[in-house]
Amino acid sequence: MTESDMNVALLMTALVINRYKKRMNHLSTYNVKLGYLTSNLKKRDQATYNQAIQYLEDIFKNHGQKLQEVKELAWKIKEGFEKISPLIQKFTGEICPTCKDVCCINKHGFYNFEDLIYLHSLGLSPPDYKFQGDELDPCQFLSSRGCILERQFRPSGCNWYFCDPLLEHMEKIPEYEEFDGSLTALAELWIELIDQFSNAIMKID
Ligand code: SF4
Ligand code: SF4
Repeated sequence: MTESDMNVALLMTALVINRYKKRMNHLSTYNVKLGYLTSNLKKRDQATYNQAIQYLEDIFKNHGQKLQEVKELAWKIKEGFEKISPLIQKFTGEICPTCKDVCCINKHGFYNFEDLIYLHSLGLSPPDYKFQGDELDPCQFLSSRGCILERQFRPSGCNWYFCDPLLEHMEKIPEYEEFDGSLTALAELWIELIDQFSNAIMKID
């Protein structure tokens, strides 16, 4: 996946992260750990990843009531992905089998901190993830029949990414405009979820 491959949805993800980082600058002492985990998780380290999961489990267990809006947003996102999944599945089924540069590699099938917030907001934990192998090795969730994870529970990088051939194929169908609108709405909900989460955490002190 090169930078030039990034589509609007991926840029939205970058926007989420930037806004989130700015908020982190204003967090108080309780949240220092949150800032630490957010930036260090990018180093793809098993210990930090486990810490992030432990941290979120603790937050949702002890402060779940203050995260009610976050949970509601997560359910809306989940339902939104379930709704658009059949169309994406149809097109990946047509395009991906002949792909010569499969994007399902280790470095893409990785849950970032925002994904972990989303999963915990749904009352879920991520599936076991092992930080092993080369970044370019096949993703550990890839099977001979494709991804073993349901779309709504995949890392966001997987769900926001559409390679050029796939996108070009999809753009030809009449339903594309509606699909694009649904995806944009989901990206906006995602931004809202992260905003609401950081707002709620700031009030937990
Ligand atoms: S989404 Fe694109 S890059 Fe990824 S496997 Fe399918 S065709 Fe290949
Ligand atoms: S999690 Fe699934 S969609 Fe994402 S890279 Fe791995 S196999 Fe592909």
